[in-house]
Amino acid sequence: MPDTLTPVLTANWGDDRAWTLASYAARGGYQALDKAFAMDPDAIIAAVKDSGLRGRGGAGFPTGMKWGFIPQDNPKPKYLVVNADESEPGTCKDIPLMMASPHTLVEGVIISSYAIRANKAFIYIRGEVLHVIRRVQNAVREAYEAGHLGTNIHGSGYDLDVVVHAGAGAYICGEETALLEGLEGRRGQPRLRPPFPAVAGLYASPTVINNVESIASVPSIIGNGAGWFASMGTEKSKGFGIFSLSGHVKKPGQYEAPLGITLRTLIDLAGGMREGHELKFWTPGGSSTPILTAEHLDVPLDFEGVGAAGSMLGTRALQIFDDTTCVVRAVLRWTEFYKHESCGKCTPCREGTWWLVQVLSALEKGKGSEADLDLLLDQCDNILGRSFCALADGAVSPISSSIQHFRDEYVAHLTHGGCPFDHTASTLFA
Ligand code: NAD
Repeated sequence: MPDTLTPVLTANWGDDRAWTLASYAARGGYQALDKAFAMDPDAIIAAVKDSGLRGRGGAGFPTGMKWGFIPQDNPKPKYLVVNADESEPGTCKDIPLMMASPHTLVEGVIISSYAIRANKAFIYIRGEVLHVIRRVQNAVREAYEAGHLGTNIHGSGYDLDVVVHAGAGAYICGEETALLEGLEGRRGQPRLRPPFPAVAGLYASPTVINNVESIASVPSIIGNGAGWFASMGTEKSKGFGIFSLSGHVKKPGQYEAPLGITLRTLIDLAGGMREGHELKFWTPGGSSTPILTAEHLDVPLDFEGVGAAGSMLGTRALQIFDDTTCVVRAVLRWTEFYKHESCGKCTPCREGTWWLVQVLSALEKGKGSEADLDLLLDQCDNILGRSFCALADGAVSPISSSIQHFRDEYVAHLTHGGCPFDHTASTLFA
């Protein structure tokens, strides 16, 4: 089991003005680009396939395979779109990456676009994070000025333009087809898939959409070789990833480690739990993934290990809650988020998330009866797999898993006539 950090994407975060081109170049930045230009685009796709890189936005779809779906005989333009709409509660890896090292992303965008033969790429950043948008815009401007973007890049004959696009602050626009709708100027609501964006995406043209961290991993794969990347991680979940730890640990933050590391090790690396308290529950990939408990401290944090434990690796947003946190209140807070962010397109999500909040908030206040727990689970069953996109599936995950692990705590709210917790003891959800 890996027990050390593997700083690659985070290696330069502590450098003086790490976000500048000068700082990035001093560490060998944009050298992988020359290596890429010496390769055939198909060889780059093959290298990414061989590396085993799987999508870092949460779903874990093989990146090289996705690139391979782009039909090269289609005369339409091809596009690369970077999903930088990071909004999953607890997920804080793409935003720090773009703030600390935007050129890693820009270099990844150029190599990836060259591989899929796109001459236009878009970086779609959530609209609320103006400072991040400015930082990435600045990096793109520096890259143009240095000849890394534009026409005949590095004398290769390859042209690429990059547009940094600000979203308008909707969680749903992290869903790839809703993001495309937003990029095309329409209200952000998901499209039916198939067709997948690889076949008909932006402006109905073949489009690769990848998460920031996936694209930022590409320069290191081309620079160091697919074998280097594949030597880290586990058999089916290769490489490294940024784990964002938040909540009741002494040193919350981003920890870059091989996939397969355990929460036990990561908590150690983060200085341990808050003094005098114990782990109660946690999310492996933000609030859209079923919660786990202290029993799962040794689960390998890879796609397979977390799946076998009954959850999902998702975005590796490890939200850590100690014994002072009321699980019912935490889950209610997340459910209110999903209700607010439901785009309204489909009934199970629009109406279902509203009803979930009604029943949950009554339970949290100690109102109702134990039968309402079964009603809640029934509502979850009627939403799961029946909504247009994954948003509503995400909404039910914390509810059903918390009832599975902490049914007694729900019942305690009913017998106590309200929340039995002293919320001032928890720094979260107080
Ligand atoms: P998905 O598994 O449906 O698709 C993953 C990717 O693979 C997509 O890009 C899709 O186009 C592609 N794909 C899948 N099958 C394909 C096929 N047959 N042909 C071509 N392409 C194919 O997952 P999703 O609905 O896109 O995303 C759900 C995930 O998003 C969840 O796992 C969740 O963890 C994550 N999520 C992330 C955030 C965030 O802020 N990063 C927020 C919410 C959810």
